[in-house]
Amino acid sequence: MNINENYLHLQDSYLFITIAKKIAEYQAKNPGCPVIRMGIGDVTLPLAPVVVEAMGRAVMEMGRAETFRGYGPEQGYDFLRRAIANHYARKGVGLGEDEIFVSDGAKSDLGNILDIVGAGNTVLIPDPVYPAYVDTNIMAGHRIAYMDGNMGNGFLPLPDPYSERDRDRKADIIYLCSPNNPTGAVYNKEQLALWVGYALENDALILFDSAYEAFVRDEGLPTSIYQVSGAEKCAIEVCSLSKTAGFTGVRCGYTVVPRALERGGVSLGKLWLRRQTTKFNGVPYIVQRGAEAAFSDEGLTQNRSNIDYYRGNARIIAERLTQLGIWFTGGVNAPYIWLRCPDGVSSWAFFDRLLDRSHVVGTPGAGFGKNGEGFFRLSAFGRREDTLAAMERFTL
Ligand code: PLP
Repeated sequence: MNINENYLHLQDSYLFITIAKKIAEYQAKNPGCPVIRMGIGDVTLPLAPVVVEAMGRAVMEMGRAETFRGYGPEQGYDFLRRAIANHYARKGVGLGEDEIFVSDGAKSDLGNILDIVGAGNTVLIPDPVYPAYVDTNIMAGHRIAYMDGNMGNGFLPLPDPYSERDRDRKADIIYLCSPNNPTGAVYNKEQLALWVGYALENDALILFDSAYEAFVRDEGLPTSIYQVSGAEKCAIEVCSLSKTAGFTGVRCGYTVVPRALERGGVSLGKLWLRRQTTKFNGVPYIVQRGAEAAFSDEGLTQNRSNIDYYRGNARIIAERLTQLGIWFTGGVNAPYIWLRCPDGVSSWAFFDRLLDRSHVVGTPGAGFGKNGEGFFRLSAFGRREDTLAAMERFTL
């Protein structure tokens, strides 16, 4: 057999391995010195009570012959797709249940969606960004063009028809992540409308990752690309309950493929349904009942209070950085704070310095793309007492 040689073009993923190694070395040299980890992108608060109760009831149903369920619909149970459609209706977006596909998380869908995309596409990916976009496209053998995020554009790259990038290399697929991991930057409606306009004009497809939408509190900012008109003809939205409802270990997400989204007279929703029904057997019933509860009024209120807790952490981090005169973005409508390393030091040099001087661990920006060099990500997903202690110790 021949292997998929595209895998040989992947860069080894050293980021979190190197971080773990550096922490272990530091702790061996400084036994008993407590290190505070502010690098992780995982939640720390437990599930909302209403979600736990719903999953408990579902477990009991599975234990009785009259209510036991085997294979469910691959694209998700009607009750959950209805709950997700209601969630969108509250944002002013009308979706049919057949436009919603439930999955085990955004990461799977972001990789799997490439199954319905033909060969030889040019894919436009922001830099810096969540690394899975790049790796899945390398695996699929697509051509990648990068769009630069930097302090000049607030880490929110826009279409630029006059640039070499967009003039000579028309993008077929565009990844947008808002609120952004790692920068915490959020596109406004006017900026998203520029991308929708560009995609419609060029017959391109936008893959919009809204995994952190629940952190957006600014009423004027969009939480879905479908809040921009025309997006239903050019965008697929991928979202997740991981950060919305603390489901990182439970696993549930969803992808929206609008009915109006067609290429060459072919419905992309039909292709995705065929893909999912062939290669995926659905999310556990118990999990889907938990997800349904997360979208109930009570669930939304309980999860909102968890998100407020993380936003409170972000405020504490932002106050300390402001005090120290460090440039940063994010942390208001996002759980990440993206800071510029002081004194022009590199991301990794700042990592070492912060560990050594403050015993605090963050994530070097260079791990998210070349434009991340010289920047650093702090996460607000930690516990309050750890965030307070870390910021007290935080020195340059
Ligand atoms: N998209 C972004 C931008 C993320 O940061 C993450 C996780 O950190 C994911 C998707 C993955 O989400 P899930 O847990 O639903 O697979």
